[in-house]
Amino acid sequence: MSVLRTRSAVSPLRRRFTDLPLRLPTVDAVVAAERPEEPLHCLRPAVVAETARTFLGAFPGDVMYAVKCNPDPAMLRALADGGVTQFDCASLPELRLVRSMFPDAGLHFMHPVKARGAIREAWAALGVRTFVLDSAEELAKLRTEIGATGVPGQPDLVVRLALPKGDARLDLSGKFGAAPDLAAALLRAARPLARKLGVSFHVGSQCLDPLAWRDALALAGTVIRAAGVPVEIVDVGGGFPVAYPDQEPPPLGAFLAEIEAGFEALDLPDAELWAEPGRALVAGGASVVVQVQHRRDGALFINDGVYGSLSDAGALAFRYPVRCIRPGVATGTGVATGTGVVAGTGVAADVTPAHDGPELPFSFFGPTCDSADVMQGPFLLPADIAEGDWIEIGQLGAYGACLRTAFNGFDQARIVEVGDRPMLETAGYQPIVTQRAA
Ligand SMILES: *Cc1c(COP(=O)(O)O)cnc(C)c1O
Repeated sequence: MSVLRTRSAVSPLRRRFTDLPLRLPTVDAVVAAERPEEPLHCLRPAVVAETARTFLGAFPGDVMYAVKCNPDPAMLRALADGGVTQFDCASLPELRLVRSMFPDAGLHFMHPVKARGAIREAWAALGVRTFVLDSAEELAKLRTEIGATGVPGQPDLVVRLALPKGDARLDLSGKFGAAPDLAAALLRAARPLARKLGVSFHVGSQCLDPLAWRDALALAGTVIRAAGVPVEIVDVGGGFPVAYPDQEPPPLGAFLAEIEAGFEALDLPDAELWAEPGRALVAGGASVVVQVQHRRDGALFINDGVYGSLSDAGALAFRYPVRCIRPGVATGTGVATGTGVVAGTGVAADVTPAHDGPELPFSFFGPTCDSADVMQGPFLLPADIAEGDWIEIGQLGAYGACLRTAFNGFDQARIVEVGDRPMLETAGYQPIVTQRAA
C-alpha cells in the first residue's frame, strides 16, 4: 500500500491564528530582539483587513479572494476581518483549509481542470456550489461526478474565456480558457445543468492597463450573444495591480470605471458581477526580512531566494522595495543590548536610524547552490551594507511565502505578526475612496 505524504500542504509557513496582543511589535523591534538568521516573514494583518475593506467597498459587485496568492491562515483571518466572505480556490486542500476556518464562507472551485474525486468532495462534503470549466470534457466530468454523489441540487457553472495575449506582467492567456466559438457552445451545453450560468476570464496578473478589462468584457458580450442563452454571472477575475518601485499603476478607480462601463454595455441588468483579486488584497500585507551573509562587490548573498519567497524576483525580475535594518544603534531611550534584547522603556521602532548616506544598486544571490538562484534587482541599499545586516523586502504578501520550497534544505523561516504600515502604500487604494464618493 502506498502512503500519501503531504509536506505542509497548502501553506508552507502555515500559522494558526491566535488572539493577538493589542499592540503588535514593529519589524525593527522583532529584528533587534531576535536577530534572525532565517528569513523572517512579517505579516501585517491590519493592513490586509484595511485593504480588503477598501476593495470591497469600491468594487460594484461580489469579491472573492484568490486563495493561492497567500493561503496563510493568519492572512485569511485578516481578510475575513476586512469583510471577505467568498473565496476562489483551485484545489481540494485550499477548499478544505478555508472551509475549516469559515463554515459559512462561499467557496468557488475556479480551476478549469479538476480531479474527479476533488469534484465529488467539493460538492458533497465541502458545500462548493460554483465550478469553472473551459472544455466539453470538464462539463461532462462535472455532470457525472456531481450526479454520482447523490447530493441533490444544481451547480453554478462558469465558462472561462480565453483572452488574447495582453501585456500583464504575468501572462496567463496560453493555459486556460475556451476560444469564443467553443465558449458559446459550452454556455449552451451547460445551461440545462446550471442553476446560475456565468462567464469568467483572467487578464493576467499585475495587469497595469484598465482597458484590458474593458476589452475582455466586450469579448464576453460577443460570446454571450453568440450563445443566445441567459447568463447570470460575469466574473472579471483577478490581475489588479499593486505598486512596486519601478511600477506605479493607475488608481483602482480607473480599473473599476472600465469594469463598470464594460459591464453596463453587456446590458445584463440582472447579472451578478464578480471579481477574484489576489495580489491587490495582500501584497502590502507582508514583508520578508533577510540577512546578508556575504558581500561580493555589488552582489549580496542573502538567506532567501528564488526557491524561497523571492521566486518572482528571479526569472520575472520583480523589483521589490527594500530597506536596510541595522539594529544595535539605539536612539530614544531604548537600548539594544549586545544580546539582542531591547532594554529600557524606549520605542523599539527607533532601533534602526533612518539611513541618509549614499546608496548603491545591488543584486542578490539566494542561499541554494543553484546558479539560477539570483535576483538582478537592482535593489537600492546603503553603500556600506555588509555581512550581518538585515534587509526588509516589501510587497511580499502576494506570491511570497506560498512559493517556498525545501530545496537544498533552506526551508526554515520564521513568521511573525507586526503592526507596521506597508513598505509601499499600495497605489490607488486611498484615491478610490474619495474618487467614488465625489
Ligand atoms: C491567480 C488567479 C487569480 C488571482 O490573480 P491576481 O493576479 O493575484 O489578482 C484570480 N483568479 C484566478 C482564476 C487565478 O488563477
